[in-house]
Amino acid sequence: MNYQIILEEIYRDIQPFAKEGKQADYIPALARVNPDQFGMCLQTIEGEQFILQQADTRFSIQSISKVLSLALCLSIEGKKLWERVGKEPSGAAFNSLIQLELENGIPRNPFINAGNIVVADVLLSRLKNPEKKFIEFIRALCDDETIDYNLEVANSEREKSYLNAAIINLLKYHNNIENEIEEVLALYFKMCSVEMSCKQLAKAFLAFADHTRKFDYAGVYLTSSRVKRINSLMQTCGFYDEAGEFSFLVGLPGKSGVGGGIVAIHPKLYSVAVWSPRLNPKGNSIMGMKALELLTTKTEESIF
Ligand code: GLN
Repeated sequence: MNYQIILEEIYRDIQPFAKEGKQADYIPALARVNPDQFGMCLQTIEGEQFILQQADTRFSIQSISKVLSLALCLSIEGKKLWERVGKEPSGAAFNSLIQLELENGIPRNPFINAGNIVVADVLLSRLKNPEKKFIEFIRALCDDETIDYNLEVANSEREKSYLNAAIINLLKYHNNIENEIEEVLALYFKMCSVEMSCKQLAKAFLAFADHTRKFDYAGVYLTSSRVKRINSLMQTCGFYDEAGEFSFLVGLPGKSGVGGGIVAIHPKLYSVAVWSPRLNPKGNSIMGMKALELLTTKTEESIF
């Protein structure tokens, strides 16, 4: 398949959407990002790479990090995690409080904020230095030592963290947080602040596109059963209250972040990352969603 020709067609076709939406502004450091940027990278499991535009520009991966922290957490905690976090789509915004109250502090899934804050709590309880371990895991996935946190973004989110503070207080009230609230939030915001380019993200997510890889990622093993389960959660919960829409339009497991990034995988074929900061009201990149919809339409390849 000549993905390069298809990517170039996609880039042309999405131009009418270039000025729609705006970047996340509830995190002050993200409000300062130039919204008119776009990058894309498709990486096949055979090692070919196809890119568009700013595929090397690093951006804040935000909630895409939730897939990576879940993978790390499952490798340490195993099935026990599911006593504290559910596996059902939420059908609600990523930072919603409503279900958490109704469901007694058990978050619907690990890809909404509440669920990932519990994941951060588990990492804090089980690891000596979770920040170090998390970044080492990502560096090993990408084989790239330069990947790092952006402390300015993490601190900026922490200063305005009213909603996430409410979420963690509710979790703590229901005995679903073991550590100090401030410590857990600091780790959660740091994990969200990791900066990666489309090239680096596509490379990292090859581990999820190929179940059969038996690599040791800094002491973390992604077994094929674990990869299968993480991918199924991406399919059903990767886009909050737009998970059904993404599945309908694109037909691949994926995960978005409010930095404007989206990653998706086609099992046994490729991983793909796309980035453009302008978001729709649900917090997902407009150009990114459109580009991925066109990718599976033009290639006539999806998991369905
Ligand atoms: N750090 C962001 C938050 O907690 C992540 C949200 C997202 O990317 N959807 O609000």
